[in-house]
Amino acid sequence: MRSESVDVVFMCGLFTEGESSLWWRKLALSESPDVLLDNALLTIEGALRTGLFLSPDLSPDLPSERSSREHTEALRGTLLELERQVQACRACQLAAGRQHVVFGQGVTNPMVLVVGEGPGAEEDNQGLPFVGASGKLLDKMLASIGLSRETNCYIANVVKCRPPNNREPTPEERARCLPYLQRQIQLLAPEAILCAGRTAIQALLGTTEGINRLRGKTYDYEGIPVIATYHPSALLRDESLKRPAWEDLKRLRALFQERHPMGSERV
Ligand code: URA
Repeated sequence: MRSESVDVVFMCGLFTEGESSLWWRKLALSESPDVLLDNALLTIEGALRTGLFLSPDLSPDLPSERSSREHTEALRGTLLELERQVQACRACQLAAGRQHVVFGQGVTNPMVLVVGEGPGAEEDNQGLPFVGASGKLLDKMLASIGLSRETNCYIANVVKCRPPNNREPTPEERARCLPYLQRQIQLLAPEAILCAGRTAIQALLGTTEGINRLRGKTYDYEGIPVIATYHPSALLRDESLKRPAWEDLKRLRALFQERHPMGSERV
């Protein structure tokens, strides 16, 4: 395990009408006992509220399974079902101000899942992630290492509804939405995760460390390598961050050079 900041994994098992589901949340012991308890309770509440189940035949980690057409169809159906649940979600105050839920966009067998913070104005208008100015920069960053949402990436956010005036989502809003992202990760089973900005990496690792300390390393999320970089909107504000962001992209690319040696093609 390469993670350097996760101290404990809180798990919550539910058994209802013959089905079972396991929910987890990584909690950093550096948090105060109150925050730890709140987060544990939110994990239980998330499981009870959404009642999402991972059926064994959709466990998406075997390459042979992933390439089968039936599996792909089933996966799409399950993602659509999840999207329907998120569309109906009113678990936090962000629901009241949204024009659209921004569930995510991309291929369903992604090499890379990109995780941002939450929709801005343009994303809220269109119902799609990263379509404003920072999205255009994100697309260029991905293209620089051969990635795109059309061919080999999926893009999602920590919160699926726009925080008013583009403020940061509150810890409670993040915690209420996190189970949806966790479920997206389970279903999409990306080969790597790129966290765009502090909110995304903090949410996945369950830490409050700043982005300057979190970037530059490779973490592990349920067996998936995770890399953090600056949010594209930070790069738009501060050109000097572009060089370290490029280092992060090269770190991501190196993961694939290890996994897909030159000449091999992902199907
Ligand atoms: N910023 C984000 O973090 N996500 C988006 O979808 C758009 C802007």
